[in-house]
Amino acid sequence: MEEFLEQSVRYVKGVGEKRAEVWAESHGVRTVRDLLHFYPRRYLDRTTVTAVRNLEESSDSVTVVGEVVSKSVVPGKSQKRLELVVQDDNGGRMKCTWFQGIWWVQKAFEEGERVAVHGKVQRYGRWFSMTHPDFDKLNDEGALLDTGRIVPLYPGGEAMEKVGLTSRSIRRIIYNLFKEHGLKLGEMLPEWLVGSHDLMEGRVALRAIHFPKSIDERRRATERLKFEELFFIQLMLAQMRNEREKIAGPEFAEPGTYTKEFVREVLPFELTGAQKRALNDVFVDTSTGYQMNRLVQGDVGSGKTVVAVAAMMHAFDSGYQSAFMAPTEILAEQHYANLRKYLQPLDLEPRLLIGSQTKSEREEALRALRTGASPVAVGTHAIIQDEVEFENLGLAIVDEQHRFGVAQRATMFEKGEQPHMLLMTATPIPRSLAMTLYGDLDVSKMDEMPAGRKPVNTVLRSEKRRGEVYAFLDRKLEDGQQVYVVYPLVEESEKMDLKDAESGYETLQETFSDYTVGLVHGQMKSDAKDATMRRFKEGEIDLLVSTTVIEVGVDVPNATVMVIEHAERFGLSQLHQLRGRVGRSDQQSHCVLMAGYKRSAEAKERLEAMVTTNDGFEISERDLQIRGAGDFFGTRQSGLPDLKIADITEDEGILEEARDAAMSLVNRDPHLRADEHAALRTHYQRYYDNRSLDFARVG
Ligand code: ADP
Ligand code: MG
Repeated sequence: MEEFLEQSVRYVKGVGEKRAEVWAESHGVRTVRDLLHFYPRRYLDRTTVTAVRNLEESSDSVTVVGEVVSKSVVPGKSQKRLELVVQDDNGGRMKCTWFQGIWWVQKAFEEGERVAVHGKVQRYGRWFSMTHPDFDKLNDEGALLDTGRIVPLYPGGEAMEKVGLTSRSIRRIIYNLFKEHGLKLGEMLPEWLVGSHDLMEGRVALRAIHFPKSIDERRRATERLKFEELFFIQLMLAQMRNEREKIAGPEFAEPGTYTKEFVREVLPFELTGAQKRALNDVFVDTSTGYQMNRLVQGDVGSGKTVVAVAAMMHAFDSGYQSAFMAPTEILAEQHYANLRKYLQPLDLEPRLLIGSQTKSEREEALRALRTGASPVAVGTHAIIQDEVEFENLGLAIVDEQHRFGVAQRATMFEKGEQPHMLLMTATPIPRSLAMTLYGDLDVSKMDEMPAGRKPVNTVLRSEKRRGEVYAFLDRKLEDGQQVYVVYPLVEESEKMDLKDAESGYETLQETFSDYTVGLVHGQMKSDAKDATMRRFKEGEIDLLVSTTVIEVGVDVPNATVMVIEHAERFGLSQLHQLRGRVGRSDQQSHCVLMAGYKRSAEAKERLEAMVTTNDGFEISERDLQIRGAGDFFGTRQSGLPDLKIADITEDEGILEEARDAAMSLVNRDPHLRADEHAALRTHYQRYYDNRSLDFARVG
């Protein structure tokens, strides 16, 4: 069976060389297995097609089937658009509108052609309309529908269409494949698992996902295939966790004098309950003789740095050094400054390692770490270069860990004898995603802010009210508070963006001529950048104009106002991170989102979310909903595998079942040696048991 599934699609009846090439390129379909798992992206059936006369405005998507009666490009006030009028079989007419991709869409449709359009309906005057609907061109589907069938529609695209890979021909190809070879397909999951989770049998599910006889059958098939997909990922995580739990690590003693003195004497405040809990988790993990792999997940401003420092003191009490890695120089220097302040009363001296320091500074630092003269190294990824040696590294901390590539984190993990790993992230992620991304880590959640913090007051303002906004800034500056003004900087339009920030800086200098205005951006030399940041921290600069370089971690409690220009262009998590730069003291802070009128539906949702909540966990849930899981972190960066059918946002229930199943399998048969697990083992080894994935290994 394996052999059959691994055959190239080229040799499948109806495919051939050219189609195989396009299919592989457009959708990654290379083997028979890929073909079987090339799932329909939608189904048409009589019960799910809506007649135009029955349309109503709603937040749910609907499908309308009809004929294209006209298409035209309409000039419009700010933007031209393409309008398509579609008429259904009962003579009802509706519009479809595109603002983007006009040229391509226009070419895609012929008048008189039958189409299915799918999207949310809005009403404009007499017309019902869909904006940027998903669409399928129909061939024989009309006739199939009339016979009461459920018709699968497949992912397509221009290239697929050119070689004749339409929904119709794909249906034939897959249908023939089942007719000829369907019986060869076996069951991958063991009987006990299929039984205990009440799953549809694998072969039946594959057939039913392409050719469902009823809506209920399709639902069962979908569930089974989602389960299968999530199960293998969870199995991989369970295996990794299982192995990791056996890795020996340095055994730390009970919290000693340095830890206690730091927490009781040096810190000017009481730890929050969440900080205490996180720290206690660290004490427990590091005392077992096994390696710690813990993620501290806490919203911006929840005080993760203090937890890191206390953990480092704990390592020192047990005779070990620590390394603290940050994603940017600004942040590394800030941590270094904090550490010096914190460690001085304890007579300890941290060392800094960053790319831009002088050779002699660097050499001195390297020596102090090698000999053990210094207990703590702080730095950027400069800290994981080969020449950096520790006398006795026992703890590695990665701040803002989601900012690092998986490979960089893996290197960190290899330094020294298996140091304990403590990862920090200010990007709270929804539970379902955490189970997948961090499935092999222990997580401490810091969901409590230091006492006395006031939620940041967030407002949305348009250009028209800029005068008002400036008057507000003036009052705050007069009060002695500091202000950030942030401009977006995206790679594609880097030059223009930079000009934007620079001209903004000039204008602000003129407008606020009584105050000192500074500018930082990513293209500045790092010492110039750092000098400016330092002056802002020390209060010499009142108003700081910047691009997003200040996004992560920077801590200036006296800065209480943040203005974000072109806020519609930022992602939601990024907006929240930026906002986290204010609200760091007991003063009331403010965040002003300046946004143009041209806002996409998604931009509106993001801005709305920012105005309505300050809670990072809620923000991340919304962000996940708006963007979808694949895009949430960027698949590549996160190591999140591509999911074909499951959706982490929607399938939390199935995800939990898959996780339970994976854990009970690993408990029963950790090496998958039992006969009944042979098929599963073959599949697992082929596709998942692959270290090069290094998936979620260290976060
Ligand atoms: P983040 O979790 O975003 O990294 P920081 O560690 O930068 O947050 O802490 C934010 C601010 O809160 C810092 O100024 C820090 O000194 C302060 N802080 C941390 N813990 C407490 C506490 N328990 N009580 C009062 N202030 C605290
Ligand atoms: Mg931080």
